Amino acid sequence: MRFRTRLMLVLLAVVIISQIATGAAFLHATQNDALMKGNQRLEVGARVLHQLLDIRGEQLRSNVAILADDFGFKSAVATKDTATLYSVLANHGDRAQADMVMLSDLAGNVLASSHHEQGSTMPFPELFGRAQQNGHGVGVVIGNGEPYEFVLMPVRAPNLIGWVGMGFLIDEEVVQEINALTGLDISIVTYDASGDVGYLASSHQEQLAKRLMSGHGDKLMGGAYTTHSQMSDNNNYLSYASELLESPEYQSYALLQLSRNELLGAYQHLKWQLIGIVTLMLLLTLAVAMWSARSISKPLIALALAAKRIGQGEHVGRIPGAAAVAETDLLATTLLSMQEDIAKREATLHHQSRHDMLTDLPNRVSALEDIFKRIQKGQPFSLLRFAINDFRDINDTFGYALGDHLLVTLAQRMQQLPAPVSKAYRLDGDELMLLIERPYCDTSTRTELMSRLNQPINLDKSPIVPSISAGEVNYPAHGITPQLLLRRSDIALDKARRHRHSHESYVEGQEEQHLRQLMLIRDLQEAVKNSELWMAYQPKVDTHSGQVCQFEALMRWRHPTLGFVPPDEFIGLAERSGNIGLLSNWMLAHVCEQLHRWKCADNHLSVAVNLSASDLIDSTLPKRISGLLHRFNLTPDQLALEVTESAVMQDVDAATETLLALSQQGLKIAIDDYGTGYSSLAQIKRLPVDELKIDKSFVLKLDTQEEDLTIVRSTIEMAHNLGLKTVAEGVENSATAELLCKLQCDYLQGYWIAKPMPADDVLNWLADTPSLVLPSLATR
Ligand code: C2E
Ligand code: CA
Ligand code: CA
Repeated sequence: MRFRTRLMLVLLAVVIISQIATGAAFLHATQNDALMKGNQRLEVGARVLHQLLDIRGEQLRSNVAILADDFGFKSAVATKDTATLYSVLANHGDRAQADMVMLSDLAGNVLASSHHEQGSTMPFPELFGRAQQNGHGVGVVIGNGEPYEFVLMPVRAPNLIGWVGMGFLIDEEVVQEINALTGLDISIVTYDASGDVGYLASSHQEQLAKRLMSGHGDKLMGGAYTTHSQMSDNNNYLSYASELLESPEYQSYALLQLSRNELLGAYQHLKWQLIGIVTLMLLLTLAVAMWSARSISKPLIALALAAKRIGQGEHVGRIPGAAAVAETDLLATTLLSMQEDIAKREATLHHQSRHDMLTDLPNRVSALEDIFKRIQKGQPFSLLRFAINDFRDINDTFGYALGDHLLVTLAQRMQQLPAPVSKAYRLDGDELMLLIERPYCDTSTRTELMSRLNQPINLDKSPIVPSISAGEVNYPAHGITPQLLLRRSDIALDKARRHRHSHESYVEGQEEQHLRQLMLIRDLQEAVKNSELWMAYQPKVDTHSGQVCQFEALMRWRHPTLGFVPPDEFIGLAERSGNIGLLSNWMLAHVCEQLHRWKCADNHLSVAVNLSASDLIDSTLPKRISGLLHRFNLTPDQLALEVTESAVMQDVDAATETLLALSQQGLKIAIDDYGTGYSSLAQIKRLPVDELKIDKSFVLKLDTQEEDLTIVRSTIEMAHNLGLKTVAEGVENSATAELLCKLQCDYLQGYWIAKPMPADDVLNWLADTPSLVLPSLATR
């Protein structure tokens, strides 16, 4: 239910209940008062009746006294002259306007009467008794069923000689007089012994009077109306009965009545007035309730609407209508200030969501948004994405606080760079980025900003020159979406970092290359399980005997969708993604198994395998290799190892230890790709090495390149001086082979002898090529 409706209902209910209660109490009191007054009036009426009867009775008494004192009358009584008595009685009766006259003797026997037979006994014995006692009697009597006010006086001459009485009928005249005096309805009623109405004189209409009285006999006789009577809803009159006479034969009453109309007429009027007032009050209350409910709910609705708008992110200046009530005004003020607080917090959150906490530089989200806006403008621009090289080492050495200091300092420098640099960002970790308003970042600009960034930074009192690599992308040349540009800048940066260059620009197709690499890295793990790898074997020939002395095992991968993947590509990826151990393990077991198989076919072959840097620092390698040799029943001379200079130099101590252990097991070790690294022969001499394998880059064009010949010659000489054997790889023609033989190179490997071949072809190839006719052998 709506608040407004509820408030209205409550107000209405309160008013209705209070009005009804007050009205009912008032009406009840008024009615009671009216009834009480009515009862009083009835009692007064009864008293007036009795007084009237008394007055009339007194008048009658003086008339009767005059008669009783009349000489003629007394002598007529004494002489019992009946005719005279009648005439005197009738005369006096007429004069006194009496309705009944009577004379009795001392014993009460009727001597003469207007209504009784002569000689009959006293008809009013009770009154007669009182008269004998008091000397006279006044009271109501019943004669022939009719009520009379009757006076009985003694007749003395001088002694008591009889009793004379006169009475008047309590009739319509009396009734009308009382009615006129009191305004009350009065009925004089006499019931006979059977309870029927014997006499009736009433101010009511005749019919009505009869109907009223005939029903009331029992009640009247039962005394129902003698006390204050109440009036029930079906009574038309409030009644009060005053007994006039009670005798064994008759009962006579005066019944005084007040009609409902007269009694409660005013009350009824009042009742309607009251109902009118209450109705008016209710209407008024309804109006007030509606108005006040509206005036309370209106500001609330305004507040609710305002809250909704605020919730939807709208800015609400003021809330009209809420100021009407003090409390809602306060609520409105609170709501508005809450809106301000929310706006502030939103601004903070917005800032935080778009800025880096440490450097307060805009973050990746910001960068994407800004790049998007630039792209929409269509103006060319460049992105330079930076990374601090060896940031992890800096953190490890100086601690994270100083690492942070380095970042913050660089961030500050980036923010202060002059045009065309327009904005700096921190993308994540140690990666920062500059937005440059140029189609590409020319060398002078790059040098200028690099020199500003590369200023030494004091870390724990040691000035550090931050080594920074940058990857560059240009819009629109390198991409037309923010995501693409960021991804390509990452690829360019990745390349710069890997080669430790200070700058690399994105090159078309690099991303495809990158994606291919990601795919290869992902699929490498499955390659072993899915038997996609196999080994190819390439023979090495001894220049002294022309005999095949060894095979080099070279890994091959046929990718299910990409086809043949060169080992130069996937080996490097496996090394960088930490999967090389997996491949080396497989390779070693596979080669040993193959050697075993050949051995079983009566071929004691020797195979050289290539090892990576991470294999060399694995201290369990010697044990694993000896385990394999043992398992496949091989002798140490059947397995040789090729390691590159750079692999050894990554961790010289660990590599030396591993190689020493392997050498002690009797395995021959060759330094692969010799000549491409920076290590000196003196360094190599400290390693347990048996052979130097001259890199094919010096061999491939040996027959045409004079410089290569010089290098190869001196390398072979020095190697021999150090007691090392030499191998030349990449021998592609007989001229080269001849040269190498002349230079006393110990072993040759290359396409001129054989390309790497599957294991299944090895024995056939050996059978077809029992001994190689080397040019040098021929000339030797
Ligand atoms: P690498 O150890 O220097 O292997 C010699 C490479 O020269 C082989 O390339 C071989 O096919 C190639 N080659 C041999 N003779 C000639 C020639 O006359 N002319 C030319 N142009 N090339 C010749 P491949 O098989 O593509 O292997 C490339 C590199 O992959 C290897 O260089 C080696 O570093 C690595 N690799 C191959 N297999 C393995 C392996 O099982 N383990 C590890 N760690 N590296 C491997
Ligand atoms: Ca090799
Ligand atoms: Ca090589």
